[in-house]
Order: sequence, then C-alpha cells, then structure tokens
Amino acid sequence: MRYNPPTLVGGNLVSVVIDSILTIIIGEYLSMIFKCNKPNLIRVYSLPRSGSNFLAAILHNHPGIFSLNSGGGSIKKVFSWEFARRRSIYPRADLRKTEKIVNYWLLDELKLRGLRGERRFILHRDQLTCSQSIVNLRNPFGVLSSMHKFHKKYNQPAWDLTEDKIIKFAKEYKNYLALARSGYVTPIYFDSFIEHLDYFYLRLCDRFCIDYKNEYTSFQESISDVGCQCGGNFTEGMSNEIIGGFFAKRNISLEKPSESFYCTNCNQHVLGFGGFNPKLPIDIKRMTNWKNSLDDELFIKFKKILTRYLGEDTVKLFLSSDLSVRFVEKLFVGR
Ligand SMILES: [Zn+2]
Repeated sequence: MRYNPPTLVGGNLVSVVIDSILTIIIGEYLSMIFKCNKPNLIRVYSLPRSGSNFLAAILHNHPGIFSLNSGGGSIKKVFSWEFARRRSIYPRADLRKTEKIVNYWLLDELKLRGLRGERRFILHRDQLTCSQSIVNLRNPFGVLSSMHKFHKKYNQPAWDLTEDKIIKFAKEYKNYLALARSGYVTPIYFDSFIEHLDYFYLRLCDRFCIDYKNEYTSFQESISDVGCQCGGNFTEGMSNEIIGGFFAKRNISLEKPSESFYCTNCNQHVLGFGGFNPKLPIDIKRMTNWKNSLDDELFIKFKKILTRYLGEDTVKLFLSSDLSVRFVEKLFVGR
C-alpha cells in the first residue's frame, strides 16, 4: 500500500517538474537508508502547538512505548538503545524501561519551516508504508490562537501571524488533513483525544497490537517509571522553570511557581520536552478556550483564510464544539 501524495499546488510547471524529479530521486535514496528498524517506529506527524509532545508523553505511559524528543523532526531513525535514552521526551530523566519490554520507539515530528508539505509527504511515502504513523491534528483555530498567544507572550517572531503566515499554515493544515483522511495513517484529533483519553488510548493500543495498559489516569502514576539521570528519585514540589531550547535561550521562567516533580538528590525538575509540566492535570479547557480568547478581528481573518483552503464544510466542523467520537469519524472521512 502506498500513500498518494496530495496534488502539487502553486509554482510554475517547470519548477513543479524539477521538484518532482528531485523528490523521487531523493525519496528513493532516503528509503534505502531509512529501513525499518526494531523496535518498530511510531511516527507522529504534527504541526506546532498541536500537543504532539504531550501526546508522546501520554503514550510513553505505556510500558511498550518509548517516546523520544525527535528535535523537531530532525531525528529520523533510532540507532541504538543508548541513542534513544539520551533523547527521551523527558530530557533530564532516566527512563527505567528495558529493551526487552519496548515494542516501539515513538518519534514526534514538528515542522513548520520550509513549507513544502507536498514534497515532504512524497519523501515520507516509503516511511509511511513501513511504520505505524500517526497524524495528530488539533483544531486549527486552537493552533492559530495558541501561536498568537505565544507570540504575544514570548515575542516569538516565527508566530507573528501575518496574512502570509496564516496562508502557509492553512495550506500545510490541508496537507495534514489529506494525509489523515488517506487511510494510510492513524489520525488523531487531539482535542477529542484529550476529552476521551481512555477510549482513544485503547484504540491506539489496538492499532499497534500492544496490550491495553490499565486505564490511563495521570502522569503522577507514570512518573514512577522515571528516575533522575543522577540516579535519584523524583518527588513533588514547586518550580517556575520551563524547559526547552526556546525558553532556555531567552531565560524565560513562569510568572509564578507551579506544582512539579523534582529530584530529591540533585534538585533538578523533571519536565517534558516542549515545556509541558507532567505534574499539571490534563485540562480540556486549554484545548477549547480559543473561542473565548480570540478577538473578533483575528477570528474573522482566521476563518476567511481557513475557509479558502479547507473548504466551508470542514471549517464548519471545526467551529462546532463537538468533540465526540462520531465527530472524529466524520472529520477524518471527509466529504
Ligand atoms: Zn537528580
């Protein structure tokens, strides 16, 4: 089974032809290098601010899955057990899992730069056929709202949502949605995934042929599998630190300390890559509060551009507050 890439859009004919030829040559070369490796890979295709680090951490809760921080998609292959351990989704933690029990490495890929979605999917075509792939989508209004808030709060220039950037995002989202609807990958609608965690968690276990771990409750439970790299254990405490290259470079910390896990031996905090705090409860409100947080002008702008690229029917689906299982099926079947 092969994934049919979405039709190439934009550009003149010559550049499209050259792109296609280069893509096929490079694609064949890459598929030679990136053979499936064991344990098998789960690849998470996702746009930024869509919860894929969070998803990776939740799935890491399963004893058979080892989640890596894939460095924004730069890691395509797991070379060894040691390699994986140095790149865990909890950067400072020693994940006490053994090679024997792990069925899958999980890589999450976050890419917004170099928006050549069509070409990227062709490059990934062979990888899609030899791995369990997930496309993780969050409500596009939620993502744009989150980018906008992030930009305002931390002055992140990449997420200053000019019309041009919103258009790029909408085109990219369209590609991801097409991939999600293609039937070659397991689609996740992150908002509903969080709302019906046990249901979708069970479905994923089923999909990956791994035992269903008893009902997912919290990170608090899974953190017992995680120790500090110094050999110490984590306990509960307070911290105002956020982890991740972006925050470290700018010396950003939380305005007020919040609950976290810290090592009783070296005092380091355990935080997930991408800045999420495993101690804080999963909160569906964070997924859906874009409705209240977007001002009219921005909302109209987002809606207009998203409608142009995703179509009126799909945008209507995203504007409804429905997070039911039936809704997810409707979303990914397309019309
Ligand atoms: Zn420690």
